[in-house]
Amino acid sequence: MTAARPPTTAEELRGAGLRVTAARVALLETVRAGGHLGVEAIASQVRDRIGHVSLQAVYEALHALTAAGLVRRVEPAGSPARFEGRVGDNHHHVVCRSCGAVADVDCAAGEAPCLTASDDHGFVIDEAEVIYWGTCPACTTAHRSAAP
Ligand SMILES: [Zn+2]
Ligand SMILES: [Zn+2]
Repeated sequence: MTAARPPTTAEELRGAGLRVTAARVALLETVRAGGHLGVEAIASQVRDRIGHVSLQAVYEALHALTAAGLVRRVEPAGSPARFEGRVGDNHHHVVCRSCGAVADVDCAAGEAPCLTASDDHGFVIDEAEVIYWGTCPACTTAHRSAAP
């Protein structure tokens, strides 16, 4: 009898029906470790791990992993897409208007759609995307100390 061990990243990729490549493994591990990284930051960290990978390859891998549900794409209006490894819990995000910092906010209901539309217009609604906008603590402090 073997003790249960968590699946390796490669096994997770295979389990999601994806071809396993060094770039995809490095990318998934980078995204999971990184919080909410943009494509450029992900590409540079993947290169640190496995050497040169084109930005195009990073985009393609992100697309495949997002489609497979291993990675979630967050795209606050007016800022570039971010990617995260926390999937499946319908959490929301708070975004700083000043510096673009992103943090997770747990979903109150725990599953989508967490908000009931006041009028669904006959649509079958499966998601409510909630983004809280504000000013992060660092920017609030910076703003206060800049004030006269
Ligand atoms: Zn900020
Ligand atoms: Zn998140």
